[in-house]
Formats: sequence, C-alpha cells, structure tokens
Amino acid sequence: MNVLVVGANGKIGKQLVHLLRGSSEHTVKAMVRKEEQAEAFAKLGVEVSVTSLEDRVEDIAQAARGCHAIVFTAGSGRHTGFDKTLLIDLDGAVKTVEAAEMVGIKRFIMVSAIQAHKRESWNEKMVPYYVAKYYADKILEQSELTYTIIRPGRLVDEPGIGKITTAENIKGGSIPREDLAKTILHSLTEENTFYRSFDLITGDIPLADALKLI
Ligand code: NAP
Repeated sequence: MNVLVVGANGKIGKQLVHLLRGSSEHTVKAMVRKEEQAEAFAKLGVEVSVTSLEDRVEDIAQAARGCHAIVFTAGSGRHTGFDKTLLIDLDGAVKTVEAAEMVGIKRFIMVSAIQAHKRESWNEKMVPYYVAKYYADKILEQSELTYTIIRPGRLVDEPGIGKITTAENIKGGSIPREDLAKTILHSLTEENTFYRSFDLITGDIPLADALKLI
C-alpha cells in the first residue's frame, strides 16, 4: 500500500515513516506543512507533499492522490490556543476524511486519545482537545471509510517493548511512541482492526497478537 502520513514531521509521524520505508509491503508519502521539513524527507528518498491542514480539502486530496491509505497523526500540540485545537484536531482531521472520500481512498487510521469516546473520563484541563477528538472520531465512524481509530494513552519516548493492551475502555496508562507506530503499521492490513475503535496502552501481549484479539 502507498500510505499518506498526515503529521509526518511529528514524533509519531517520523517513526511511522521510518517503519513504512523499511517495510516490503508498503511505500510512504509524507505530508508536512513547511518546505524545510520536506527537504529532510526528500533527502531520505521519501515522496513528500507540502500541505497544511489549514489548506482546502482539495489541497489535502491532491496530497493524497495515488495513495491507498491515510494515517492521521497530526496534532495542534500543547503550545497553541483553542483556535488551533478546532482547526487542526477537529477540522483538520475531518477535512482529511473528506479528502480521502474525494479521491476514493478507503483505508483510514486515526490517532485519537485514550477515552476520547467517554465524556465522563475527560481531563477537565483538556476538554476542548477531547471535544475535538470526540467529534472527529464520530465523523470518521459515520463515514464510508474502512477506519481504525486508535486511542493511545500518554505517549512516552522510551524504547518500545512490542507488547500492548487494547480494549474498548482503559482508564489510563501510557505507551511508547515506537509501539504506537508499530501498532499503526500492523493495523493497516490487520482486518480485525477494520471498523474498530479502541484504547491502547503498553501491555503484555505481543502487538500483532493483541490486534487479533480486539
Ligand atoms: P507531534 O510531535 O506534536 O506531531 C504533530 C504533528 O502535527 C507535527 O509534525 C505538526 O507539524 C503537525 N501539524 C500541526 N499542525 C499542522 C498543520 N496545520 N498541517 C499539517 N501538519 C500539522 O505529536 P506526536 O507525539 O507525534 O503525537 C501526535 C498525535 O498523538 C496527535 O494526534 C495527538 O493528539 C495524539 N496523542 C498524543 C498524546 C500525548 O501524550 N502527547 C496522547 C494521545 C494521543 P510541525 O512538525 O510543523 O509542528
């Protein structure tokens, strides 16, 4: 599959691009928002599109043209205001879903956040972020796309252990970004994750096996 990574310059995005480059099953296209970021990917031989999630749906669709799957792992980050939470985490995600529909891409993986589907679990300091994730996920679930919504716990930069726990409801926990990137990679073709949404933290089951148990 040729996979468009939206948010490719981010911490997860970079690890996922690296995994996809090393895979025999897939090729990768990176979507980044700045020319200087594009140069770094081009030097690695990675196809790249400079497109912002604040651009038009048609521009995101153009970036996605020729791909077979999209992974959305962008985020407005902690250091921006609620305007960017709306524009990136909500509208950027929904525009990417619309772009997939526009160019006929069916497979879509969304990086959401743990318990985003349960209002009563939301951290009260981050309610706007969870609102954005909640509605972006809902719109993806109601689309015609073959979605997987992964809701990871707190992301850490420790090395991955290759073992995870997935469930409909996990109260809290963390996961190394490396293991999240590997979970995304495996999910791309693991049919058991199609049309599924799940919380994800580090655990004790090898990740390929855990994805078969969802
Ligand atoms: P990250 O390093 O901040 O990466 C986010 C990426 O989104 C960055 O590369 C950023 O671009 C890109 N982005 C922001 N605005 C954009 C725009 N207008 N157009 C295109 N790209 C844009 O974050 P991460 O650690 O990889 O994690 C990202 C995902 O995990 C997000 O969906 C986040 O909500 C989710 N998540 C995070 C946690 C956590 O503990 N941090 C927990 C659960 C879920 P630049 O590189 O140019 O800034």
